[in-house]
Amino acid sequence: MFEAPLFFKIFFVVMILVAIGVFVFALMLMFGTKTRSKLLARQVKSLRGATDLSKEDIESMLTNLSDVSIKSRKKVIEENEDNLKDIADANARINKGAVKETAKAFKEGFTSSNKTYCKYCGAEIDADSVYCNKCGKKLI
Ligand SMILES: [Zn+2]
Repeated sequence: MFEAPLFFKIFFVVMILVAIGVFVFALMLMFGTKTRSKLLARQVKSLRGATDLSKEDIESMLTNLSDVSIKSRKKVIEENEDNLKDIADANARINKGAVKETAKAFKEGFTSSNKTYCKYCGAEIDADSVYCNKCGKKLI
């Protein structure tokens, strides 16, 4: 027989392959759960690490952002300190003037603007009156 050795050779190789397959399968069955849980644990660990890293990244990013924001605001205020002071001073002056005007108006009873005094008798009269209504003298 010429072809028998080849057939046996192939059969032998296939048997070895099957044996290796069975051996690997048995090994997988034996260590499967343990290995799988180990791998899972490792995955969970690395995921947790990644999450922690990204958490840190986000935190530092937010901190940097707020730092930048605070710094830029400080910078703007510092650069415009004089202008801001001027504006505040102007506002203060305007308010002071308004308060003064209001106080004056209260003091004078809101009537002083169109009132004057007779140059003969000193009576308070309307600014646009031609004759004094107390002494009757002509004013204009
Ligand atoms: Zn008069």
